Amino acid sequence: MEFVAATYIGNFGDKDLIFEVYDEVNRHFSEEGLPLRLLYVGRLDVGPGYVINLQTEKGSMRLYPLEAIIEALHSKLLQEMENKGSIRMNKIFALVSFPLVSRNPYFDFFERFFGIQEAIGGLRMMVLSVKPFESELERSENRRTILKKRLVKGVLHEIGHGFGLGHCRNDCVMNPPERMGEWDRRFMGYCDACFRDLKRALEFPGLKMGERD
Ligand SMILES: [Zn+2]
Ligand SMILES: [Zn+2]
Repeated sequence: MEFVAATYIGNFGDKDLIFEVYDEVNRHFSEEGLPLRLLYVGRLDVGPGYVINLQTEKGSMRLYPLEAIIEALHSKLLQEMENKGSIRMNKIFALVSFPLVSRNPYFDFFERFFGIQEAIGGLRMMVLSVKPFESELERSENRRTILKKRLVKGVLHEIGHGFGLGHCRNDCVMNPPERMGEWDRRFMGYCDACFRDLKRALEFPGLKMGERD
């Protein structure tokens, strides 16, 4: 069994949603017979010293730059690997409550829907902002259920990248949408081809499939 450390950063009004999303992802892996699980390792605090003020069309926003988040995730992962000792785990995943920004001027201000990954010395840090998934959400009683499904698919997408999967064109979580409505209709899971690649990556961890976003 391979584990991916799972955490969250920022202030979530509805924390239960995070745990429900992580549980749902694990249920999916279990039902599909994938030897992979998210392992919740607690909330991650990123020091206030890192906060930057960013001027946007909507006024000033206080945000953590991506570099600070990656650094905090990296040290959290090292710490968890040491604590947990014998288990197979070299990746960490975080849901964040705010949009992702970077001090790097070449970075898109609001990455469209998906997350950011970075590898340092064989360890992989994955970050997904919930912000883009909150767009085009109608004020209905299904709001929470819709958001949850979007996030579960988003986590599956990032985890797929984490194990070397690229984007695909099928009805599959590895096919990124142009709009959120499209994402709502997307199949909740990997297509056969992506599933096989993910399974192979889990069976043969040394195998490289190329790095993509
Ligand atoms: Zn696919
Ligand atoms: Zn992607």
